[in-house]
Amino acid sequence: MDLYEYQAKDLLAAHGVPVVAGSVINDPTKAAAVAAQLGGRVVVKAQVKTGGRGKAGGVKLAADPADAVSKAAQILGMDIKGHTVHKVLVAAACQVVEEYYVSFLLDRSNRTFLAMASIQGGMDIEEVAATKPEALARIPVSAGVDLGKAREIVAAARFPAEVAEEVAEVLVKLWECFVAEDATLLEINPLGRDGDGHIVALDSKITLDDNAAYRHPAQEDSAVVDPLEAKAKALDLNYVKLDGQVGVIGNGAGLVMSTLDVVAYAGVKPANFLDIGGGASAEVMANGLSVILGDPDVRAAFSSTFSAAGSPPVTRSRTELFRRWRFSVRRRPNRWSYGWTGTTWCRAGGSSRRRTIRW
Ligand code: GDP
Ligand code: MN
Repeated sequence: MDLYEYQAKDLLAAHGVPVVAGSVINDPTKAAAVAAQLGGRVVVKAQVKTGGRGKAGGVKLAADPADAVSKAAQILGMDIKGHTVHKVLVAAACQVVEEYYVSFLLDRSNRTFLAMASIQGGMDIEEVAATKPEALARIPVSAGVDLGKAREIVAAARFPAEVAEEVAEVLVKLWECFVAEDATLLEINPLGRDGDGHIVALDSKITLDDNAAYRHPAQEDSAVVDPLEAKAKALDLNYVKLDGQVGVIGNGAGLVMSTLDVVAYAGVKPANFLDIGGGASAEVMANGLSVILGDPDVRAAFSSTFSAAGSPPVTRSRTELFRRWRFSVRRRPNRWSYGWTGTTWCRAGGSSRRRTIRW
């Protein structure tokens, strides 16, 4: 699970990492009060889960509270790489003298953790990594990051002597945050050096390990902002948003994946998929249907469920689905069509048959 910048910033602050003060807002007029409280000069930043916001115009400096309102109005509603900006972070503008890059990540291929650091951080770090790999230090981390290990990272990246010790101390706190929060990625870019020579995390990207989500219930709830994801979660269903037009329901991860392939093979793209799990009841099926049909991108739905002999709940759930399906069609006549293709299933007694129903 990727966190928004403002969520990552709160986590970092909780672990003692220096960050700039700020508030997240969804209405441009609220920027004035926040800016006034922060001393007038602020930076207004789009909150979307993608990088490159700066280059896309999603990070703007504002000179005073009135300017903050106008910059927030420009950024809210903006589309950045397919992500609509619903929230902006209004943060105290920091005078940035130098921009560095530091990160910790789970390096699966080497079965260890990796620290990366560069004194050429900022918006062009990808280019630095590609064209000047020697400017990005890569240090494997297997036994944690204490001050000694942090100094090794700092030396490898050739941080200036004046900031070396402060960067090392920040690295130790970043590592503590990485471990305590069960992160798989923690990236600070830029790690800024401000006008007073101090180090401050100006932008952060944190990815948490979903398998450890149960250990962090507060974050889990706050991170789900898509209303359909929230609805699916509340119903205990696994819903994943994709970018096509066909809603997909299936039971079991393998069958759902195969169904996505079948949909793609037919020349259309899945809009989402929902795994209702084994032994799903009629109610679960109906809930699942209401989730996928709630997605405005869905123009058609495809359901593929398998039930072996001895799984009457799934069979009943299909019957229930057919019943509610008609209702949905009547209620939403402006869509192309809704089709149901029942997959082959085994019935008690061993006979199997295929049923295709079209509306
Ligand atoms: P990204 O482009 O999505 O990575 O967004 P960032 O948060 O990294 O912002 C892009 C750039 O804006 C940074 O590289 C900085 O140069 C600049 N920036 C971000 N925050 C501040 C700030 O508080 N003060 C100043 N002066 N510049 C900032
Ligand atoms: Mn950045």
